[in-house]
Amino acid sequence: MKRFISICAAVAIFASGLAAAPAKTPQKTLTVTVIDVGQGDCSLIQLPNGKTVLVDAGSGGVGWNPFDAGTTIVVPFLKKMGVKHIDYIVMTHPHSDHIGGVRPVVKELSVGTLVDSGFPASEADYEMIMEIAERKNIKLIEVHAGDTLNWDKDCEIKVLSPPKNYIMGGQSPVNENSIVFKLTYKDVSFLFTGDAEKEAGKKIVRAFKDDLLCTFLKVSHHGSKNSLTYNWFMDWAQPVISVICVGQNTWGHPHRGTIKALESYGSLVYRTDRDGTIRFVTDGKTYKTSFIAPDEDERKYDGDYE
Ligand SMILES: [Zn+2]
Repeated sequence: MKRFISICAAVAIFASGLAAAPAKTPQKTLTVTVIDVGQGDCSLIQLPNGKTVLVDAGSGGVGWNPFDAGTTIVVPFLKKMGVKHIDYIVMTHPHSDHIGGVRPVVKELSVGTLVDSGFPASEADYEMIMEIAERKNIKLIEVHAGDTLNWDKDCEIKVLSPPKNYIMGGQSPVNENSIVFKLTYKDVSFLFTGDAEKEAGKKIVRAFKDDLLCTFLKVSHHGSKNSLTYNWFMDWAQPVISVICVGQNTWGHPHRGTIKALESYGSLVYRTDRDGTIRFVTDGKTYKTSFIAPDEDERKYDGDYE
């Protein structure tokens, strides 16, 4: 019963959140919605000038993961929010839990530009996305550390990784070469880290430590023990709020030590597997957080709302 009441409360918060955050953001607000796609990553950014950016799109049902989050969650969610056109899709790195869902999105919606790091991809998803992109004349750009993306004159978007000379060490070079970028709107900032791990983190701290201080951190690599929550990274980032994108998995994500590390810095920790889809709306000075609880009809809810 307690859980039921809590879910209802979360839905109520969602309803008020919806009223406060229309699909387009005409009043100079920046909206970041971290979408619950199960095990995978997906965030929708609605810039103050109305442009839309999708950062990854969850899994796509190809390869090891049979769950097609792109078709069952992301595309319906975007349509429900009235998003008809996506200006940019940032594909942080070519792993299926991040770009698999991009395929149904580019197939079903109007997309302006795909943003990629250019790191060699071997997953079938990537080839399929490129085929559709070519057919639909969707542009493809590569970004690297140090690039500034001029997508909204009121926001600074700075790419912190990967470097042009890709990182070849670490446990997973694909993860290590994730696109990491920071979005700043006046006093409020969001740090997106893909699945970047230790080697990338070291280079980022070396080159951009003064850029890391952030309001919101999208925790890297689903909160694994290799996520960028080491002291030498967190000392600079010090996020007020941290979001872990995670679903049912067999890898033990998120790692208990990751959550402890985040909390030891006083960061509020949200997780998509427990909190559902999480939305932040900011005018650049203050921000509001709201939650969209998982649809019980679509997926069983296993978390504890305490
Ligand atoms: Zn991942």
